Amino acid sequence: MVFPGDFLGYAEEYIPGYGVYEEDGKLFAATAGKAVVEEKTLRVIPVNSIPEVGKNDVVVGRVVDTRGSFAMVEIARKEGNSRALRHYDRGFLHVSNMSEGYLKNVEDGVRYMDIIRARVIDSNLRLSIKEREMGVIKAICEKCSTPLLREKDKLKCPECGNVEKRKISEYYGKGEW
Ligand SMILES: [Zn+2]
Repeated sequence: MVFPGDFLGYAEEYIPGYGVYEEDGKLFAATAGKAVVEEKTLRVIPVNSIPEVGKNDVVVGRVVDTRGSFAMVEIARKEGNSRALRHYDRGFLHVSNMSEGYLKNVEDGVRYMDIIRARVIDSNLRLSIKEREMGVIKAICEKCSTPLLREKDKLKCPECGNVEKRKISEYYGKGEW
């Protein structure tokens, strides 16, 4: 059992998950509950409550990092719930969960700063964008930062003509994210 502000470990040892915040490389509990570690992700599960985002939920978030075969996604909100979530809800998107087909690189599916719509596939906030409705819904040009427009299965920059590849959601460019 831990309490808010309790020191839990170092950021180089664990990935901060639900109920954990980072300060100067140290991880602390943001809520009272039980600290659990699953595959390097450290979370605090509140007593008598369940995490706000769970399996099968549809979420919208921003790609904040890509490394190796993973993209890290900062989950901004849960579909059907306009209230912003706490900033420390991070989802993980593996390259094998980006497309029904084979993608060689994470960057063929999503890139840094993309806004994506994804399904949560387990309690550890692993994400999938395989479904047609899932994938990138907003992206900017890597060369000039102009929002990209959809052109069939590619994204094109209206400013510089740069063409980029993504796993594009049917919702691309539609409405507010
Ligand atoms: Zn451009």
